[in-house]
Amino acid sequence: MLKKKITPQEVAIVKKDFETSRNVVIVCHTSPDGDAIGSSLGLYEYMKRKGKQVTVIVPNYFPDFLHWMKDADKIVRFDWQKTASYTALKMADLICCLDFNDMRRIDDLGVAVMRMRCKRLLIDHHLDPNRQQFGHIISHPEMSSTSELLFRLLDAMGELNSLTFAGAEDIYAGMATDTGFFSFNSNDPDIFLIISELLRRGIDKDKINRNIQNNYSPDRLRLIGYVLYEKLQVFPELHASLFAIKKEELTQFHYLKGDMEGIVNMPLQIKGHKLSICLREDTERPLIRVSTRSVDDFPCNEFCTEFFNGGGHKNAAGGTLECTMEEAIDIAMKGLETWHDRLADVPSKEEDKKDAKEATTMESVTGIEDDKKEDKSEETKEK
Ligand code: 5GP
Ligand code: MN
Repeated sequence: MLKKKITPQEVAIVKKDFETSRNVVIVCHTSPDGDAIGSSLGLYEYMKRKGKQVTVIVPNYFPDFLHWMKDADKIVRFDWQKTASYTALKMADLICCLDFNDMRRIDDLGVAVMRMRCKRLLIDHHLDPNRQQFGHIISHPEMSSTSELLFRLLDAMGELNSLTFAGAEDIYAGMATDTGFFSFNSNDPDIFLIISELLRRGIDKDKINRNIQNNYSPDRLRLIGYVLYEKLQVFPELHASLFAIKKEELTQFHYLKGDMEGIVNMPLQIKGHKLSICLREDTERPLIRVSTRSVDDFPCNEFCTEFFNGGGHKNAAGGTLECTMEEAIDIAMKGLETWHDRLADVPSKEEDKKDAKEATTMESVTGIEDDKKEDKSEETKEK
């Protein structure tokens, strides 16, 4: 039995939106990740089961390691398939917006979506959704993933019997990828109740993990070696690190989109590390893409909003910079400097007080203060 996180009002909103729509479009964020594709295809499966006409439209490329999912080949790419995209959008009486909180996160597709006069329903787990852009909002930033939110919605609607095997695979993939295979943001015991429910539907989680994690070229492994050996700058005092990789370097490793996936997490394997920053030159546009990862309470999202025109979650956030790599590195260094006190082991005020108290006690025990007095008198003598 899951904790009740979905309110009856939310159930009523979603039920009504679903029941009153026949032609549905599902969109998710630019450069979709496992959660964006997993939740979109999971909802697609459900909608199909309910007899709807459904199209998933993504703004651009999504990585190879997500192509095993059922019906991934039916996903329409807005950057390549404008006619198919507009046909579906114009027919739609409901557009479900998954795994993003602002139309700017879906680039030109956002402009197209905003032009349509149909209902827009947001289902998402990012902070601060842009309330003006969506008719109905189901926003749960406390959840691990949009895929978890989708499962909980279906559960609250009493619709779990319409969750198919493929839908269960999709939801598992989304939850697994957004939590680094349950290594962060996944302490809610409900997550494992959900996983057990998905396993009961017959999914092979080990195979899904392999499909996602072990699906790369030899070049990608060499790229990891290169980044870690040649490019990684570690700032031990700050428990932070930074690496910056240019287009020419990526080309050297026959870069395919998705090859950089997860590399930004690796420096967090360093003992005591708090923050990892990756700067990557975009291969198509004159941009630097920023990815950051942190542990515990270092807020990557605030850091990325302040320095990289971005945002995201507390422990995983990103942004973009329109400048040269050298300038981007300067900005990142400035960021590290600004957040120095949150990163370095600066003793807290409480610790300062404790140290001062301990020092006083030591003085009275050892008579250090008396020695100091003697030293001073010596100094005076010398002068
Ligand atoms: P990644 O580092 O994997 O590209 O992104 C991690 C998370 O950061 C994403 O799930 C998303 O929430 C957020 N994110 C990445 N890039 C941007 C960006 O340009 N703007 C905003 N607002 N969030 C971003
Ligand atoms: Mn997500």
